[in-house]
Amino acid sequence: MTNLQDNRGEGLLDLAIIGAGPAGMTAALYASRAGLSVAMFERIMPGGQLAQTEHLENYPGYAQSTSGFELAMSMQAQATAFGAKLVNEEVLSVDFNAPVKVLETAFGIYRARSVIVASGARPTRLGLPLENELQGRGLSYCATCDGNFFRGVDVVVVGGGNTAAADALYLSRICNKVYVVHRRDKLRATAIYHQRLAGIDNIEFIWNTEVKAFIAEDGMMAGVRLANNVTGEEADLACQAVFVAIGTTPNTECLRGALQLDAAGYVLADEMGRTATPGVYAAGDVRAKELRQVVTAVSDGANCAEAAAEFLAE
Ligand SMILES: Cc1cc2nc3c(=O)[nH]c(=O)nc-3n(C[C@H](O)[C@H](O)[C@H](O)COP(=O)(O)OP(=O)(O)OC[C@H]3O[C@@H](n4cnc5c(N)ncnc54)[C@H](O)[C@@H]3O)c2cc1C
Repeated sequence: MTNLQDNRGEGLLDLAIIGAGPAGMTAALYASRAGLSVAMFERIMPGGQLAQTEHLENYPGYAQSTSGFELAMSMQAQATAFGAKLVNEEVLSVDFNAPVKVLETAFGIYRARSVIVASGARPTRLGLPLENELQGRGLSYCATCDGNFFRGVDVVVVGGGNTAAADALYLSRICNKVYVVHRRDKLRATAIYHQRLAGIDNIEFIWNTEVKAFIAEDGMMAGVRLANNVTGEEADLACQAVFVAIGTTPNTECLRGALQLDAAGYVLADEMGRTATPGVYAAGDVRAKELRQVVTAVSDGANCAEAAAEFLAE
């Protein structure tokens, strides 16, 4: 167990942060600069999804794009420079019932006066061969993030919900042709998307169809093998990129009923990250919200740290 000293030497932290992605590291930066004793708990490595992003083009201030990994390392250095501690332990369970909140890891029990849940989310995967190898080489889980790398070429969007519809719209403005492959015979997306998508010339829907395999050439995405789930017919479709938009899964396993979640499992919290439990906040991709990006994660982190500092001052 990591020996954490708070400002009073009592082993009771002002703030514990679950997850050291962009949201958690920004919360740690703001809270430690505000003089709070802070520890970030991270189960893998600091940076979260950002550290896996090869080129980040839409984070303000980097006109030439930046490496997600380098930005993540820089965020970590900045947060720890002001005194926040990084604890490389996974939070396995929490108890938010008393004013002193308790986090349990495999190595011990930690106590804190406030907690920010910044445990992020993970894209739902298709579970096909080559999925790991092709990620960043034509396979993406985020059109807003990676669409620009595929200007003027043919791409496939997999899915039929709101994210898939929004991705198809976004990509239709950038790419030559957008094929939307959906396993049902109509979109699940809300009506407004049906209207917006109708009449866009470069979007083509391929209904009742599933992606069976990725086709790679020289290590890059070159196409997909499709199977019609009504007729059983199979066909190959050439494309330079595939955007998988079949949902994301929030990392809330350690919460086990400790906080209110929405129907999709995201933590319900207001714009300042306040949950219904006093002293407990949610920041970044794990929070129920519309746009999950680095820029919204860092702003959530700052808001939550501010709200936690205000709560502790009371
Ligand atoms: C491939 C890819 C490309 C992307 N490209 C872009 C882009 O170009 N631009 C952009 O703005 N956004 C992009 N995104 C989205 C962006 O990375 C996320 O929105 C952002 O990282 C969310 O930050 P976060 O801190 O909320 O969560 P995360 O980055 O998911 O970090 C959460 C952290 O919490 C840790 N954690 C989870 N549970 C526990 C636990 N129980 N105990 C301890 N630690 C825990 C995780 O290990 C992780 O490190 C991309 C995402 C992916 C997957």
